[in-house]
This record gives sequence, structure tokens and C-alpha cells, in this order.
Amino acid sequence: MSRFRISTDERSNAKLAKSRGYGYLVAGLSLASGNLSGHQVCAASAAAKCIAPCLVHTGQAAIHKSVNRYRIIKTQRLFNDRESFLADLRWDLKALVRAAGRASLKPAYRPNVLSDLNWCEIVQEFPEIQFYDYFKDQSHMAEKFVLPNYDLTYSLSAALCSPDRWTKALERFPRCSAVFSPEVYDGWFKDDPSKVIQFNGVTIVSGDRHDLTFLNPQGVILALRAKGHRAIRSNPFVYGSEVIS
Ligand code: SF4
Repeated sequence: MSRFRISTDERSNAKLAKSRGYGYLVAGLSLASGNLSGHQVCAASAAAKCIAPCLVHTGQAAIHKSVNRYRIIKTQRLFNDRESFLADLRWDLKALVRAAGRASLKPAYRPNVLSDLNWCEIVQEFPEIQFYDYFKDQSHMAEKFVLPNYDLTYSLSAALCSPDRWTKALERFPRCSAVFSPEVYDGWFKDDPSKVIQFNGVTIVSGDRHDLTFLNPQGVILALRAKGHRAIRSNPFVYGSEVIS
């Protein structure tokens, strides 16, 4: 039985489970990405061309239809009954703090596992929690970046930002991430995920060793390995071998 009402924790997410080894107890909120629920939760997804390769279609969701059905119901509730949704979210965050304390771990929470919404109000209410997110929507950057307990990583898209513009992107965003095809990612990190790659004047480290983006330095690109079937892995959002040469 989950200790949370609407959040996902390490028991249903292998990447989150690795966090204990780094001293953190992590949970997150998985909504129905893009417009799947009839409500848009990823404002920049059409331009970034990330809807098809989105992780919402992978993992348990690729096996059990009920996973995305539940995410859709949850997302509709956020829009139709926001106060009760936020009450459940606050309940989960308090439960996370208590559980982390009992386990002598630090609490961390990722509110946008499959969305790109503005959670600044909630982040400010829980200064004892380390929040973190990837983001594409730049509309609330000024508000988000001043919060000391909110770590943000800008998600690059191959459709919008070629490698020769990565240096410029890192001048604007303290840390970026990019999804690479398995061929490119494995060529760099398969033998040694802790390797540091220098490419096109930027530093690239693996973002797949754990989910805790805030443990990585700023000024780097976090490399993520594309997941899903071949068509997804060659999506315009993904940096493939044709652009990494
Ligand atoms: S912004 Fe992120 S969560 Fe939303 S569709 Fe794109 S990859 Fe998925």
C-alpha cells in the first residue's frame, strides 16, 4: 500500500530507487503528458517535438493501459478540482518528509515527472524538501530560478537546438539535458557511466546514473539514453549519430 495519495515513489520507479544510495528519499508526480487528458500540461512540447518519444508511453504504461488511464484521471482532477488535488499533494509531501526522517534520508520531490507546469507555490511551502525538474516551457523561469530549494535542468530538443548552439544554451540555462540515441549514448557511457565527455566545447555527463539532477554541477549537459522502440528513438527530438559526428 502506497504511503502517498497521488505521488509515485521508488517502489514503482527504478530510477528513483537508486536515490537511496545517494542519501535521498525521492517521490514525484506523474500526470498525463501533453494533451492526453484534454488539458495541456506541456506548453512547449509541440515545438520541441517530444510528444511521440515521451516517457508517458514507456515502462509499465506500455504494458498496462491502466497506468495512463490513472494519470489521465489524476490530471483531469488537477484542472477540475484543484483545491482537493493540492490538498492531496500537500498530504504526500508531508508524508515524504516524515518517511525520509524515519529512514535518515533527505526528502526530494520531482513535481513534473511527465508535465511542465509551474509548481512554485508548492515548492515555497516546503523549504525542507529539495525539489527538482526538467523543463522546456520558459514562461516562468524568473519565478522558478530564485527558489533555493528548486533545481532546474533545461531540456534541449534536437529539433530546436543543434550541437553548435549548445554553448549558447548553457549561457542561458545553468544546466541542460539532451536525449541521445542508444548508439550515441552507449558509445560514450556504456563502459563507464561516470565518464566526462568533452564535445563541441561543452561538458557532457550521464544523467542516467540516478534521477538526482541537483547532484550534478551546473554548466554541463546531462545525457539521457532514448527509451522505447526504434521509431521513437529516431524522433526529431532525439540527438542521433547523424548530428553527433
Ligand atoms: S515536455 Fe516532457 S513530459 Fe511533456 S511531452 Fe515533452 S517529454 Fe513528455
